Parts: sequence; structure tokens; C-alpha cells
Amino acid sequence: MPLRGLPEHRRRHPRGGRLMTRTGIEYLRAKDQDSAVALVAEDPDAAFLAGGTTELDLALKDRVVHPSRFVDIGRLPLRGVTRDGDRLRVAALTTMEELAADPTVRARLPLVREALLLGASTQLRNMATIGGNLLQRTRCRYFRDPDVAACNKREPGSGCAAIEGVARMHAILGAGPSCIALHASDLCVPLVALDAVVELLDADGPRRVPLTDFYLTPGDRPDVETVLRHGELLTHVEIPLLPAGTRSAYIKVRDRTSYEFGLTTAGAAVQVDDGTITMARVGLGGVGTVPWRSWEAERVLVGSPANERTFAAAAQAAIRDPFTVPGTEFKVELAKRTIVRILRTVTS
Ligand code: SF4
Repeated sequence: MPLRGLPEHRRRHPRGGRLMTRTGIEYLRAKDQDSAVALVAEDPDAAFLAGGTTELDLALKDRVVHPSRFVDIGRLPLRGVTRDGDRLRVAALTTMEELAADPTVRARLPLVREALLLGASTQLRNMATIGGNLLQRTRCRYFRDPDVAACNKREPGSGCAAIEGVARMHAILGAGPSCIALHASDLCVPLVALDAVVELLDADGPRRVPLTDFYLTPGDRPDVETVLRHGELLTHVEIPLLPAGTRSAYIKVRDRTSYEFGLTTAGAAVQVDDGTITMARVGLGGVGTVPWRSWEAERVLVGSPANERTFAAAAQAAIRDPFTVPGTEFKVELAKRTIVRILRTVTS
């Protein structure tokens, strides 16, 4: 019950219970996926609500998003992990902890497990859902402060306070003068590297979108973050398994070892045959406005010897043409070192 503890009174609604709080937000509990989609689609300011670890903060505490209606999907049968051949299908309401504990994830996707365990405290992992993790909003302090007027993501055309503000936790790849907000998910870093696919559902039916195409860099519309349409529900994530014997890992560089977001992170999976890299997947976090797949690093790695020179060349290729402000300049070198370190880890 997401709004537990808030002042409330109840009224009946034809499609479910209805709860109005002093915030003025209408609360509806969806009975099935189709009614959830319909209830959000019919109201342009409605939003889905699942674990609530981000959404309730933004709406009720920070007051920087203003939904007219929450449609609670927490009781829909969208929970669990199933294996289908060489793929895992993860329902969106599966918690981070459940996915981390899955035996196939332990055995075949160690970089996913490590990203989940490093991504949040145990308490949060038991509450936060995989769908919510993929759809989390930026941690930019200016976005989350309603007293800051200049934020193109909150108010298109208003400017960007972070460009000349405190920007240590911001992005250097995919960034530009309109917005340098970071996508802070740890989990998404290995998922983009592994070619994960999200399954979406709306009134027109289901569709599948590769995760690398799901997120949008800010361009001149920082307020549009994904290709998700209003009323469209993220129902599943499909994760290809790594071939048996592939080495993979995820590392997170941060100011302190717990309860802190990453300054730079990297997830990689590599196969080496007789000293030559034959397969490479590289994802980067802490640097991108979207979870960053480094195709450039992969191109350098595949076919090259697994040595320090190759790793340095891959890092150089990965962090080409960064957009920096004074607070984020240090990330250029830190990200390169993080890439070299993850490549050493998965090839040693
Ligand atoms: Fe807003 Fe993006 Fe600038 Fe942060 S970086 S203040 S989210 S426009």
C-alpha cells in the first residue's frame, strides 16, 4: 500500500478503490494490465506506481513532478524470472534482490548480479523493482529542487542550472548545453552491454525495444528521456545470457564504498582465445546522460591482443569528444582508468 500513513478518505470508483490525499493526487489500484494502461492513458497527467522508491519522493517530498493520478500496478502478476533457452525474461515488478538471487543470474550473468548488489542497500533492493530501476529519474540536485527555476528537464526552455553550478555527479557523454544530467542506474550498464530488450504494452498491443534504443540523449528536449509513450507500461526485460565460460564483471568507483552513487562505473564481458579478444561487451555508467554502450571500445578490443596497450586504446576510444564543465573534467581521466581496470579484471 504505497500511500500508507498519509491522511486519506475513500470513495468508490467504477474501476477500483479510489483514494484522495491532501496532495490532491488520485490513487487507483489496477486490477489487470489492460486496466492499468487504460487508467493512465485516459489522463495525460497520470503515472504508474510500483515500488515507489523514486516516484513518491519526486511527487510527495520533492514536489517536482505533479501527477494528477497514481495507478498502482504493485499487485499485477508481473513478478518473477523465467528462463527461455539462452535468455532470461524478467517481469517488471521483480525486485532487485530477487533478480540478484536468481541462480541463473549468479551463474551466467555475474556482471548483472554485481551491478544489482552495488546499486542499492539491501532494504532498497527488497523494495525497488526492475522496471522502476530502468525508469528512474535523474539525481541532478537542481532537477530535484523546486526552488531552482533553470532546469530544462523540468521546465523546457528554462535553462540549466547545473552547467555553471555544482556538477560533480553529472554526465560527460551524450551531454550538451541543454542538460548534463546523469542516468544513475547501475543495473542498466550491464543490460545495455548485453543487448537487453524491454517489452512494452499499451492499448495498441505489445512491442519490443532494444534497451540501447530505449533511452534518448537530451538534445534540445531533455524532458523527453525515453521512447516510452504516455500510458505505455514496461512489462518485462529480456536479457540474453552470456555464453558459458565468458568472463564478466562490474565495478563502481565512488567517493565512499556504500550509500553513494558512482562517479564512474563499468561493466564488461569478454572472451579471449589464445591471447586474442574474440568477443567484447562494454557498458559505462556515471558518465552518460543515458546508460552508455561503448561500441567504440568494443571495436578496438575485438581482434586485438588482451594487453595493456589494447585496454588503453579502448579507453581512449570510449571517452572521445566528452562534453565537460569545470566540475566534471576529472571524469575524463577517471572513466578511462575505470575502463582499463574492468578490462584487466575480466582478462586476468
Ligand atoms: Fe535540469 Fe538537466 Fe540542467 Fe540538471 S542538468 S538542471 S536536470 S537541465
